[in-house]
Amino acid sequence: MSDLTIEQVEVVPFAIPYRKPLHFASGEVRTADHVLVRVRTAGGLVGHAEAPPRPYTYGETQASIVAVVEQLFAPALVGTGALDREEHRARLSRTVGNPTAKAALDMAVWDVIGQALDQPVHRLLGGYAASMRVSHMLGFDRPEVMVAEAQRMIEEHGVRTFKVKVGQQPYTLDVAVVRALREAFGDTVELYVDGNRGWTASDSARALAEMADLGLTLAEELNPADDVLGRRWLVERCPVPFVADESATTPAEVTREILGRSATAISIKTARTGFSESQRVLHLAEGLGVEVVMGNQIDGQVGTLCSVVFGAAHRATSRRAGELSNFLDMSDDLLAEPLTISDGELAVPAGPGLGLRLDEDKLARYRQDA
Ligand SMILES: [Mg+2]
Repeated sequence: MSDLTIEQVEVVPFAIPYRKPLHFASGEVRTADHVLVRVRTAGGLVGHAEAPPRPYTYGETQASIVAVVEQLFAPALVGTGALDREEHRARLSRTVGNPTAKAALDMAVWDVIGQALDQPVHRLLGGYAASMRVSHMLGFDRPEVMVAEAQRMIEEHGVRTFKVKVGQQPYTLDVAVVRALREAFGDTVELYVDGNRGWTASDSARALAEMADLGLTLAEELNPADDVLGRRWLVERCPVPFVADESATTPAEVTREILGRSATAISIKTARTGFSESQRVLHLAEGLGVEVVMGNQIDGQVGTLCSVVFGAAHRATSRRAGELSNFLDMSDDLLAEPLTISDGELAVPAGPGLGLRLDEDKLARYRQDA
């Protein structure tokens, strides 16, 4: 095996516009201003991953991700071996926060390990399935616009699972959207909702009551987990699994939210927990006996590829459709072979490591530091 000593860690900020802005209760996205992370070994291997800044969720910005990697994380990793993942975790955990920066580094290191072993990371993680069923996220819009977008996703990509962003005021705006989707597509689609903490507990309870006949399968972060008793009250009354997403981003938070009865399911996002910490979250959820769903951090294609590599690798994450389609709304991306969703599925790319090949011309075009 080649020398796996990490010799260099590079960060490349890049910006790619979205075709249309995506709106949700906690924020909106117009440009994918992400950071590409590259880990180079002495033996010449290069691992890649992508960090998406989400200031309204984690407090990170593109500039803060670049700074924390350059000033703290790169010096901590250089000189260690790519296989020394527990050492990496120990060193990076000396700095609090910065979840997407840490996650991208972890996944880039896994990319190196897969290449060194000439095996797909997907197989090293568990290798359960070759693809994942895809769920598409519908941002705020008028009912007829959201129905049209769902129709387009069905026709063009065969996607039949939709996460509807809710949490608007008044809540009846959202109820009308979910009802319009159910009336348009009947039982041929799966629908669930994500409030991004936009409602109160009582709004949420009323909205769930009004949507009781609409066959929702999950309800995510309808009200803030910080409204501790209101959240517990709501979860007790929720007829479907109540998913913790941004309120349970670490194993400790997962434990707290589940044992505190503030959630009954967990969203796993490789964008914030990489592969190593996502496995910890997954195994914890399995141990606690709660369902999981692979979530989307409004990832680009590199991030989406990481999500499907992890999600398809494990049985529990393969049970539900993964949220893997937001990259379709970007005007361009960095992969030499773009991801495609067909028959409602996204396949795990073949090839060693993450199976990822960058289009260097595109990176040169979109990078913000050159
Ligand atoms: Mg969410």
